[in-house]
Amino acid sequence: MVVSVFEIIKEALKHLFSKPDTINYPLSKREVGHEFRGRHVFMEERCTACGLCEERCPSQCIKLLEDEKRIIIDLDACMFCGLCRDVCPVDAIQFSDEYELATSNKEELFVD
Ligand code: SF4
Ligand code: SF4
Repeated sequence: MVVSVFEIIKEALKHLFSKPDTINYPLSKREVGHEFRGRHVFMEERCTACGLCEERCPSQCIKLLEDEKRIIIDLDACMFCGLCRDVCPVDAIQFSDEYELATSNKEELFVD
């Protein structure tokens, strides 16, 4: 297919005056939908230490500390599938809208 110079200029001018699809990130940020799965939020007071989240996590990145009724999630291995939240019988795991998780310190990738 041969594209003429005229068509290229026409297309360029069209986009020059149209609203961009991108935003000025990080100065501007997009809102995320209510089903967005960002950094986990763990509600320790609800947890019954049943172990379902640890058992079902396909990435094996949840560790349940039964004695302390506490879980640790390694976000470095997590694929944010949402299974841990879905299987928890007491809704002790939720997702926040926090998506800026990049870090050079791996310790920051543990949700405790
Ligand atoms: S979101 Fe999926 S991969 Fe991440 S901790 Fe939960 S079950 Fe595991
Ligand atoms: S599934 Fe829920 S209640 Fe059970 S250990 Fe995990 S967070 Fe706690």
